[in-house]
Amino acid sequence: MLCLTLTEATVDANKQYIKKYCNDADLFELRLDCLNLDEMPKAVELSHTCKTDIILTYRRMIDGGRRKVSEEDRLQVLRTCVKNGDFSYIDMEEDLEDSELNALVEAKQMNIIRSRHDFDSVPDDVSKDLMNLCKHPGEIPKLAVMPKSVADMLRLLDGYRNTSMTRFILLGMGNFGVWSRILGPHLGGFLSYVSVPNQSAAPGHIDIETMSRVYPLDRLSSNGHIFGIIGNPVMHTKSPVLHNAGFDAAEVDAMYVPFTVDSVEDFITFAEKLPVDGFSVTIPHKQAIIPFLDTQTEAVQAIGACNTVYCKDGTLNGDNTDAPGFMAPLVPEIKKGMKACIIGAGGAARAIIYGLQKAGVEVLVVNRTESRAQELAEHFNCAYGSINDINLISQYNDILVQTTSLGMVPDVERDPVAGYEFTGKEIAYDIIYKPLMTRFLTRAQAAGCTIITGDKMLLEQGYLQFKGFTGCEYPREVTPRI
Ligand code: NAP
Repeated sequence: MLCLTLTEATVDANKQYIKKYCNDADLFELRLDCLNLDEMPKAVELSHTCKTDIILTYRRMIDGGRRKVSEEDRLQVLRTCVKNGDFSYIDMEEDLEDSELNALVEAKQMNIIRSRHDFDSVPDDVSKDLMNLCKHPGEIPKLAVMPKSVADMLRLLDGYRNTSMTRFILLGMGNFGVWSRILGPHLGGFLSYVSVPNQSAAPGHIDIETMSRVYPLDRLSSNGHIFGIIGNPVMHTKSPVLHNAGFDAAEVDAMYVPFTVDSVEDFITFAEKLPVDGFSVTIPHKQAIIPFLDTQTEAVQAIGACNTVYCKDGTLNGDNTDAPGFMAPLVPEIKKGMKACIIGAGGAARAIIYGLQKAGVEVLVVNRTESRAQELAEHFNCAYGSINDINLISQYNDILVQTTSLGMVPDVERDPVAGYEFTGKEIAYDIIYKPLMTRFLTRAQAAGCTIITGDKMLLEQGYLQFKGFTGCEYPREVTPRI
């Protein structure tokens, strides 16, 4: 089930969200610690009018609550709400013992969620701690923990796997726990909490619109396939939006999840246990993953970087879709004897040089730090020079590929080859996709050049991964705006 946590200061504002999201959420959690004090009586009224079940929660500050309040005052509000209201669930902390409140809850036959929040760590034996939380039969234990590494993620996953309870809530907070908010119900959890957009109720909460659109819980059956992306940081990536839209349209029983990863080695253990059927690899793990691969394509070997791993029968098979992804929009433009200048000598440049050379294009690489251009030139047996050598660049200007990070938001006015004047005959390709029209491309377009924007490479490499993951072509007509 999906539970929307309501954190507005007034009941009327919360009511608006109930109305807006009643088809997306299976239940609501009303957070009394977020309500203005004079709104408390209206909380009772809300419980009588809302058709969907509500969890009544008055979070203490030590558990992530937002109001400093004496324990007696908090209990008094809870007692009043339970006595006069019509709430289906109440969240009670593991150390909360109040006979008066207990009696009221029992009289109303409310479900008790018995909760513990650990903002520092993940316990050694999660399933044991989960089981020990319940004070009385029928309670639903809720354990929220804070994984800070993949090693912590592994203990959290063991918690899901080892629990024998039929109803439990288990979740990891923060970036290392996001996968558990998406996959928790798939792993047997009773519910997953989400926030109202732009009002994160707890660390790592996903908002209800993203959850419903990108990670709908009912997309993945118990036999469904799990894919994802590993990186650090990784939460900004648009890959889940792309792949999950493809799964929906192609009716593939799968979910694509972002995994924040600090240790590639630990993630491989995690991926075997979950299990993960394949994953994209982004910065900083594209090289680090290589020693763990059972097989690798010629592209991975030549480029020295792997951006895709297919997991099959216990083996990890590495590929690199950056090179063919980069080449896809360029191929129709390529003619025999063309020369290309690659501006920049970072990670992306490696796949690009490889792709161009395979297509028979003669390559020059120029960079701010010339020694890095030299290293690449020695590896790929191509020409190199300084980014300021406009004469040299002019000798390789059939195709100009901008691969530096200069010109990306927020520095959108920057251009790494500002001194180069386009003739209008060049194909200008910028792999930056934020913004789509960089200063470099704007100048090229004004001169009459053919231009290619960075979203093409991003999408094409994703389409190829999708094909590798699922065996189906990506349904391009559903490509989301990146
Ligand atoms: P990287 O390995 O960090 O390399 C960064 C490159 O930018 C280096 O050549 C660096 O030169 C250069 N650079 C940075 N600041 C500069 C400055 N002030 N003046 C001149 N050059 C500068 O990064 P990467 O992974 O190659 O990625 C580079 C860009 O490509 C990023 O914007 C990334 O978002 C984009 N990208 C797009 C796609 C896509 O699918 N469209 C895929 C991958 C990457 P030095 O060596 O002198 O530091």
